[in-house]
Amino acid sequence: MSNKWLDHIPALFDELRPHALRSMRQFAEDEIVSMPQGPREGMPFRCAFMPWSALVLDEFDSGRWRRMFGRGPAQSAKTLLFTVIPTMYHLFECSESVIFGAPTHDMAYDIWNERVLPVVRETRYASLLPRSGAGSRGGKSRAIRLRNGAILRFMGAGGDDSQRSSYTARVAVLTELDHMERGASGDDEAGPADQIEARTTAFDAQAKIYGECTTTTEEGRIYIETTRLGTDTRIHFRCPHCLRWIEPVREGLSGWRGAASIVAAGSSAHYLCQLCQHPWSEADRATAAQSPRLVHRGQSVDESGRVIGPIPETHTLGLVWNAMHSPLRSMATLAEDEWRADQALDESLSKKVFQFNWALPWRTKRNEMDVTYPFLAEHVTDEYTHDPLRALSPGAAPDPLPAGIRFRTGQIDIQKRWLYVSADGWDNDLTDWTLFYTVVPIVPEGVGAEAPTREMIRDALDSALTMLVQTYAVDSVWVDTGYKHEGEQENIVRLWCAEQGDGVNALVGRSQGQMSRMTGERVELAPEIPDMIQCRRQPSGDMLWFLDVDRLKDEVYFRLFRPRGAPGYHYFPLDAANEARTDRSRGPASPGWIFQHYMRAKRIITQHPKTGHEVRIWREVGRQDLWDLAAYALAGAMVTLADLQASENQVPSSPVLDVARASAVDAGGIRTRY
Ligand SMILES: [Zn+2]
Repeated sequence: MSNKWLDHIPALFDELRPHALRSMRQFAEDEIVSMPQGPREGMPFRCAFMPWSALVLDEFDSGRWRRMFGRGPAQSAKTLLFTVIPTMYHLFECSESVIFGAPTHDMAYDIWNERVLPVVRETRYASLLPRSGAGSRGGKSRAIRLRNGAILRFMGAGGDDSQRSSYTARVAVLTELDHMERGASGDDEAGPADQIEARTTAFDAQAKIYGECTTTTEEGRIYIETTRLGTDTRIHFRCPHCLRWIEPVREGLSGWRGAASIVAAGSSAHYLCQLCQHPWSEADRATAAQSPRLVHRGQSVDESGRVIGPIPETHTLGLVWNAMHSPLRSMATLAEDEWRADQALDESLSKKVFQFNWALPWRTKRNEMDVTYPFLAEHVTDEYTHDPLRALSPGAAPDPLPAGIRFRTGQIDIQKRWLYVSADGWDNDLTDWTLFYTVVPIVPEGVGAEAPTREMIRDALDSALTMLVQTYAVDSVWVDTGYKHEGEQENIVRLWCAEQGDGVNALVGRSQGQMSRMTGERVELAPEIPDMIQCRRQPSGDMLWFLDVDRLKDEVYFRLFRPRGAPGYHYFPLDAANEARTDRSRGPASPGWIFQHYMRAKRIITQHPKTGHEVRIWREVGRQDLWDLAAYALAGAMVTLADLQASENQVPSSPVLDVARASAVDAGGIRTRY
């Protein structure tokens, strides 16, 4: 006779009896369904789809590693292998708590919510999600208690340390590792990734840390963990032609270089085996992927496919792979990415290709686009024969100016003993024809080393202005007034500008970081004038223009790289590069002199020492005054064009805009007082 009160006892003991845990690989193949909205949505996870993933899960299961880090391309199962599967395995198969770390607490919650939870919902473990309380509804909770007792704890790099230090767990999963290096407070203590990892130290050698990220730079945490501290493990494939094992690398992707179009680049893409030089088709690549090997640093694969060499002495498995290892990316689209980045004017596409396709760190301090002499010489056209120097020769009639010029600007920069002077012609697209450049001595010849007097400076400015007005009929003049005369309280250059009246504009150049420090009362400018140009009314009542020269130089620089003849292109007079294109003369007022100044400016991408963010700096060695004048010229042209268009549309301009406007309206030149 059975006792119905005892019927449930065997089942209860079944529940309590410790069951043999499956391996992570077994668990993944039994339970995981691929991410919703992913390319394999709804399909069960199978290592066979990407055979090397079986080797990675076997490494996780081996018990050899305490710390397991993955650095791979974007969208290549990186999150699935290093975040989703380990998190679910420890929470559900092992019923143990997991710390889930990200740059911020909210990001940790969001990553769980967007990338892990949808996978959980597709499995039978959905029934273990809490039905009420924290985590069951909206709101970014600090922790979720599952119905099997395991707790998922979210931790971020921001926030106070107490939330981290009061909680321990054996398992920590860290995502977006390179973006959590610095705490919100920026203090010098251990980084937040280390602090989160420290929550596992109570478990000593039993602790398990998983982490992943796309590659940033060699200074990034994921690069350090995988390649410098970890095993720097690479995935080798077996070449179907020579039957040897190789790691597919960026250099092997071929066929796209020099292709006539992006379509041609894609259709001729293939991989060249670095051992036998035999091209791989897409089918060859799929075959090669069927025989993967994980090769740690210092190891190799022998002809029989055996991995030989000792395993590195470290607790950290560091796996590195690239888009050639992912069946989700074809060689054609990888080649198209390369071709497009190769054609692009700036570096951002190349950086993406390096980091997101090839898991290669982006090297800082690059200046791939040097402004060289042959490059600048290309900006000289036969149609534009204007001789910049003959205009000043006594008795010589100036060459006709290029057709298409709609208005002109003149620029003056004051240095210790010289004025640097240039004039540029512009059309409505701000296509730039540099017309003229020279120096005007401040100290007259024969006076020797005497310091320039106030009168000498004013005389030199007067003669430069005469030149610009009489020979080039400029619409506006832009004068750098950063110069301060010795012993003078007043800025005599600014004073001189004010005396000239409308059309002669006093400016100061500022670096990007200095733009917040401007004196005077803000003057509203036309909306099309970019904010790298600002105008302030000084206590004297005079206008002073503040120019963000760093950004203006970016503009001038990228205009040099526009396709030849495109709107906004920059032309130089024929004699700037002589017929043989050999003139590299350096002396002031020699025709090739302007190119020397342009070539001394280097645009460098580097990392901010404190924030780690990428920043552009301009580094200039030697005299580059004509290059500075190009930035003033572009600013002057932007203001003058806006003003011309305002007067054409008969928009009543505010009185302050008369500074640049009056001259522009009056085609006869600018009003001056001499
Ligand atoms: Zn081969």
